[in-house]
Amino acid sequence: MKYISILGSTGSIGVQALQVIDDLNSDFKVVGLSAKSNVDLIEKQIYQFKPEVVALDDKYSADVLKKKIKDASVEILSGKEGIIKVATIPKADIVLSATVGIAGLAPTLEAIKAGKDIALANKEVLVTSGSLVMKTVKQKGVKILPVDGEHCAIFQCLDGCKDRNSIHRLILTASGGPFRDKTIEELSKVSLENALNHPTWKMGKKITIDSATLMNKGLEVIEARWLFDIDVSKIDVIIHPQSIVHSLVEFTDGSILAQLAVTDMRLPIQFALTYPKRTQSMLPRLDLAKVGQLTFQEVDMDKFPCLKYAYEAIKLGGTMPTVLSGADEVAVDAFLNGKIGFLDISEIIKKTMNVYKDSNFSDSEPSLEDIISADRWARDYANKIIDEHNH
Ligand code: MG
Repeated sequence: MKYISILGSTGSIGVQALQVIDDLNSDFKVVGLSAKSNVDLIEKQIYQFKPEVVALDDKYSADVLKKKIKDASVEILSGKEGIIKVATIPKADIVLSATVGIAGLAPTLEAIKAGKDIALANKEVLVTSGSLVMKTVKQKGVKILPVDGEHCAIFQCLDGCKDRNSIHRLILTASGGPFRDKTIEELSKVSLENALNHPTWKMGKKITIDSATLMNKGLEVIEARWLFDIDVSKIDVIIHPQSIVHSLVEFTDGSILAQLAVTDMRLPIQFALTYPKRTQSMLPRLDLAKVGQLTFQEVDMDKFPCLKYAYEAIKLGGTMPTVLSGADEVAVDAFLNGKIGFLDISEIIKKTMNVYKDSNFSDSEPSLEDIISADRWARDYANKIIDEHNH
């Protein structure tokens, strides 16, 4: 029996993780749940999974929830401290970090410090704080199990790899998003609705837009650098529209290992939760004859400059990936709210990185305070560009 706490239980990954746990029957016990403000959904989750501690980030929502839940055996908390409490429940063996955005960083770090294994779905944890987080992971001797499909694939290809020097490169696959075959001209006119219509994956809004700009892949390159402790020059991206090959590892002798499966996040979630065991899955099996063709093509970084900026940010190091990620979060939010066009997203990120490079930037290893202040700076600057854009 494994005890698990879930940060972000009402989001896309959180909900799918609870389905997986439900399917795995008695192997898991949910001890903690946290969310932002979705009272109705978390109320249902409390009845179904009977956690001991629940936290909502939003204080008002937490008060509403308290009035609804009569069961005194559930402790209901609020705010950042409440979420950290869920992340560090003594009973929990593993914490699923599945919130969106940099708000997930502090509770995930606290969970690592408390000796929990982490099933990691939050991107900002490694993108902004990879060196700090991996150092703490080593000190505490805990495991980071990637929940993202690409990293889960590479993790599987490397599981049992006896000689790290034999790794020639990691190859992350990208579906290419809904705009893979559009020209730059066409990209300037795409709507929010088009961008939210991802061809192969069903995900939250932020990550769906990030998939359309390929920033999602850029963030995954940065995460892979830390997760697998490998130089970024050895990480490549290839477009694979069918999203069946989830990523590959090429070895020095030219051999390539790949992981293939149906396109469903519940598989990497299940792998992360049950590792090192594999268990029966309720998902449909991959029928290769039915798929018929697997195709691959090169990425056009001029058309999708966000990926290029992500490589630049991780090569520059220091807090630059934090600035990239903070500017992206603000720009995507502005796009989702109809304030800017699709191509403005990458422009805002580029401008924010350039100004930061010329003013505040240092490539030394950042502390948590450096990361939080770089994130704030990037958000303020990106917001300033958007305000000017709208006046
Ligand atoms: Mg992914």
